[in-house]
Amino acid sequence: MATFVVSLCRDGYLVGVLSPATMVTYVSLLTVGLVLFERRIVYSALIPATLYLVSCGYLSLFGQLTYAPLFLLTDFPYKNGFWVLSMLFFIVPILLTCLVLFEILLSQWRYREALIAHLSQVDPLTNTFNRRSINQCLEQLNHKQASSYAVILVDLDHFKQINDEHGHHKGDEALVQVCHVLAGHIREQDVLGRFGGEEFILVLKQATAHQAKQVAERCRQAITQIELYDEHNQPIHFTASFGIALSHHNTPYEKLLSQADQALYQAKAYGRNQVVLYQPLEPAAS
Ligand code: GH3
Ligand code: MG
Ligand code: MG
Repeated sequence: MATFVVSLCRDGYLVGVLSPATMVTYVSLLTVGLVLFERRIVYSALIPATLYLVSCGYLSLFGQLTYAPLFLLTDFPYKNGFWVLSMLFFIVPILLTCLVLFEILLSQWRYREALIAHLSQVDPLTNTFNRRSINQCLEQLNHKQASSYAVILVDLDHFKQINDEHGHHKGDEALVQVCHVLAGHIREQDVLGRFGGEEFILVLKQATAHQAKQVAERCRQAITQIELYDEHNQPIHFTASFGIALSHHNTPYEKLLSQADQALYQAKAYGRNQVVLYQPLEPAAS
């Protein structure tokens, strides 16, 4: 920073403090400096430089100092041409350096933006969508009001026992495997997410009750067949319960989730390891 500021002062005096080259150098140093260094460093270098340039300009105005002495030294016949060339000589390297620096900064910034977006949307353990993304997805589906979709809530049965008997690490392994199984049983347009600790959600777009029940049943069976082994190489078996709700006439997604939760609660109450579809109560005939 100091080297650049010294050359700004020297060249600024030589080519004129109000010349385009000095202006470009000054603005570039300020902007790139503020991005790369601490504010304190940039200002403590640029404030003295600014005072120096202002003093040069002031003294030149009152004839105490020669303005742009570089152009008095030359015997070059075409002064305008020499002036333009000297401006280019000072400006082009600075512009190119700034361009490269900005390009690097921009790609770093884009990379960080993408990383932050990814971290805010994805569950770190299972690499599936988190609850926030799922809510956004359901909100969008509600706004589209196009076709019906199904929501399937999946809750692992007696999962606490797996943690208690085999450790949290095995529990984590089971969660990852369940995600692989669920992801393998949905279509590309469907969405899988981790809704809570040992609870997952499937959003099946353009699905009927029959299709949703079929998908849930296949997932249920596949989860019972997951191959997970304890430290003695003994298989660990576990199951999951499923609650399904279907969107009707643009049901708000919060209501749909509550319906799927009620169906899941029933599946647990009926003895777990089963699929239950939420059935709206028929209005009583008068
Ligand atoms: P139920 O059949 O009624 O659902 O019983 P459950 O034991 O599955 O339900 P409960 O809500 O009592 O316990 C859920 C357990 O899930 C407790 C918690 O330790 C575990 N859990 C939640 N998140 C994680 C996680 O990220 N990793 C692991 N290993 N366990 C988790
Ligand atoms: Mg639960
Ligand atoms: Mg559970």
